[in-house]
Amino acid sequence: MTADADLERRVLAAVERLGRALRAARQDAATRHQVSQLGLGVLETLSDGVARRIGDLAAELDVSQPTLSEAVNALQRRGLIARTRDPLDMRSSRVSLTEDGRGVAAAVAAELEPVLAAKDSSDAELATTLKVLLREIARLQTAGVITVNRSCLTCHHHQPAAGRAPARCLLLGVPLRDHDLRVDCPEHVERTPVTVAR
Ligand code: SF4
Repeated sequence: MTADADLERRVLAAVERLGRALRAARQDAATRHQVSQLGLGVLETLSDGVARRIGDLAAELDVSQPTLSEAVNALQRRGLIARTRDPLDMRSSRVSLTEDGRGVAAAVAAELEPVLAAKDSSDAELATTLKVLLREIARLQTAGVITVNRSCLTCHHHQPAAGRAPARCLLLGVPLRDHDLRVDCPEHVERTPVTVAR
């Protein structure tokens, strides 16, 4: 194994280890609030206040539509989410959080905050890590492993850095230094074909 390949393997092993720890913390939170892990993901995704169709939500969470429907039905029975008619297609519906659902999503976010806060790393280290991980996510998207990716690095509005001028978001008119990069931006428009900004 080359030195580069060994480093890549250790980075992926570290991400995997971190992922296992976060999944365990999320499972604890899900158990406390009597929802499934997928149900928790639905509550967290909808906490941005944007109602979604089941199909779009399933793609965002990388699960099949029947699996997602089951999780949504369970949350609806608990009164945590509601369905409304899709104004663009009266045969479909969209789901959004109820007041109780917003309460659970906020409580979970507060409980996970200490786990997610990376207090031992500098801002520069975190910004570099963010960019590296977003590049890896984009790579997995182009490989067909991830379906939905709304980060700056694959966005049509991303203008790469040129000379001493930092990268910019042309839509919002703001600089996009590494620590500004968004992971899940509602304004994201995918570049076609998908290419990854440096
Ligand atoms: S629209 Fe959003 S995702 Fe696209 S470049 Fe601007 S901030 Fe990033």
